[in-house]
Amino acid sequence: MARELKAFSLRGEVVLFDPDMQIPNCVHMFLWNTEEREVDCYLSTFITSTLESEPNDSSQLQAYLSTYLAWKDKYLADWLATKRPYYASRAKEAADEEAKKIEREKNLETLRTASSLAGQELAERHMDLVIKSGKPYRGLSRPTGGWRRRVTHCYACHAHLDNSSDVECVSCGWILCHCGACGCGYLGY
Ligand SMILES: [Zn+2]
Ligand SMILES: [Zn+2]
Repeated sequence: MARELKAFSLRGEVVLFDPDMQIPNCVHMFLWNTEEREVDCYLSTFITSTLESEPNDSSQLQAYLSTYLAWKDKYLADWLATKRPYYASRAKEAADEEAKKIEREKNLETLRTASSLAGQELAERHMDLVIKSGKPYRGLSRPTGGWRRRVTHCYACHAHLDNSSDVECVSCGWILCHCGACGCGYLGY
């Protein structure tokens, strides 16, 4: 990735890229507009490939360099000080949103396997209960370590455990009840 001061043409305007102007982990890229002599904000996803494919226009860079450096000296520190907290919080929101999206996709993939073991309806009910309990959803599996549930009735629906399905919750290791309950939602009373 280009990490040097660079001038290039963007939709007929000459802009400058300065690595010092970029905010780490920000979803935006900041370019200095040589016409308006101010910073323009672009979404990195749209602009990064352009930045990389456009050649550095060294004659334009020379033409605007002293003007830009004067601007940079005078304004960049203040610009960063005002923009950084805002864009840092925006970047965090975007990262959180992305993490949630990845988690949702992962859960749906796990759910597909769980559904093949317990049926879609029961697997979905179980997933909802695990997520509601705040534990990470890891799906269902065939019992591996024997009967790990220590109660004789389901704490949630009071069904006999004989009625429980023959799969267990991977998150807590409890046998899954037909109501969808497992140890994840068990509060100990
Ligand atoms: Zn139950
Ligand atoms: Zn569980």
